[in-house]
Amino acid sequence: MPTQLEGRRGGAVGAKIDYRDGHWIVPDHPIIPFIEGDGTGPDIWRAAAKVFDAAVARTSGGKRSVVWREILAGEKSFNQSGDWLPEETLGVIREHRVAIKGPLTTPVGGGIRSLNVALRQVLDLYACIRPVRHIAGVPAPVKQPAKLDIVIFRENIEDVYAGIEYKAGSPEADALIEFLQRRFGAKIRAGSAIGIKPMSKFGSQRLIVKAIQYAIKRRRPSVTLVHKGNIMKFTEGGFRDWGYEVAKERFAEQTVTEAEGAKRKEDVSKVMIKDRIADAMFQQLVLRPDEYSVIAAPNLNGDYLSDAAAAQVGGLGLAPGGNVGDGYAVYEATHGTAPKYAGQDKVNPSSVILSGVMMFEELGWEDVGRAIVRGLEGAIASKHVTYDLARQLPGATEVSTSAFADAIIEHLS
Ligand code: NAP
Repeated sequence: MPTQLEGRRGGAVGAKIDYRDGHWIVPDHPIIPFIEGDGTGPDIWRAAAKVFDAAVARTSGGKRSVVWREILAGEKSFNQSGDWLPEETLGVIREHRVAIKGPLTTPVGGGIRSLNVALRQVLDLYACIRPVRHIAGVPAPVKQPAKLDIVIFRENIEDVYAGIEYKAGSPEADALIEFLQRRFGAKIRAGSAIGIKPMSKFGSQRLIVKAIQYAIKRRRPSVTLVHKGNIMKFTEGGFRDWGYEVAKERFAEQTVTEAEGAKRKEDVSKVMIKDRIADAMFQQLVLRPDEYSVIAAPNLNGDYLSDAAAAQVGGLGLAPGGNVGDGYAVYEATHGTAPKYAGQDKVNPSSVILSGVMMFEELGWEDVGRAIVRGLEGAIASKHVTYDLARQLPGATEVSTSAFADAIIEHLS
């Protein structure tokens, strides 16, 4: 049962989402905090909220609704309170567990916390999840973009995101160089900058567990561990080894490794666990995309792969994302604020809309997600699209952000 009643929408009483024993408990009228975002954020949020409300109402016959609760961050917050990221915002997200956000301006100048970094740390959102698949009708640079249909789980806390880095010539870098030379005989050129890449068994395995659980639940055929373990044997190689280990320990009945799978025909229904070296993986996604399904990667590999894969399906501007931990999740548009178009009702709202699809799927409202995807595909097929798609689609009619949302709603089914 929801923990507390609050909020109201069209007569419906909103309640908080809860999380127990690894499961979401979602009331019929969940309160979901949102940050509309800076620049074009308000335009795309307005469009997205309209689509979400229409899809929820349509799939539930009016039985369910979302009670949206605005929270402040970024320029809007700074203009109102002088604070780019109020404590209250973090507190509300923690309290309601699931939130969605538009893009935020990254303020220039030091001493300002990034919302994404703060959220990752405070809520321990250790998995950055980026589904990448082609939406029919979207122009793409490869011949058969529909062959790529993957979900990337990227570790979000360790590796380069640990942020342990010292400037060349700084006392910290010089002290580390001296220590490494004296204690371990490491050869490091004097005056080098130093970065440290920590990767733990705990951090790697919880990410890989999430990827395997996702593959099992969604009946995905494989999980590929992407690493650079041929060179970095203990960090990246550790990621691979810890991945195979946890698959065997926790999912022995539901998984099979690539080497075993080739020998045992009875394992076809199991999730295959395989691994690829990162550089080879970039080739594989272009040349044999249909051999990959769920991907688990350390932070930096996952960063590169996510954007490269999204570009392959022509969808960098449409790519959704979510940062997920245990019982906490924040979904977001992956593009920036596109400030030159702010307030023009012009840009494409698909990234935040598809992030909403991820959110509804995670909460178990898969029917809402499916309806929105069909609506989006229908709108694109009708060629009534925003400027970014219109300029690439022969015969398309350019429509505004809000008109595009209306076209999606028209095609919900
Ligand atoms: P950007 O806002 O993503 O914009 C770059 C270009 O991408 C735009 O000029 C536009 O291309 C296209 N674009 C972006 N969003 C679009 C949309 N919804 N529909 C259609 N086209 C879209 O990147 P930026 O100019 O480098 O960054 C601006 C601000 O956003 C910065 O303060 C940056 O730090 C911040 N940012 C925030 C996030 C986040 O909050 N997640 C992510 C990235 C950047 P055309 O000019 O070709 O039309």
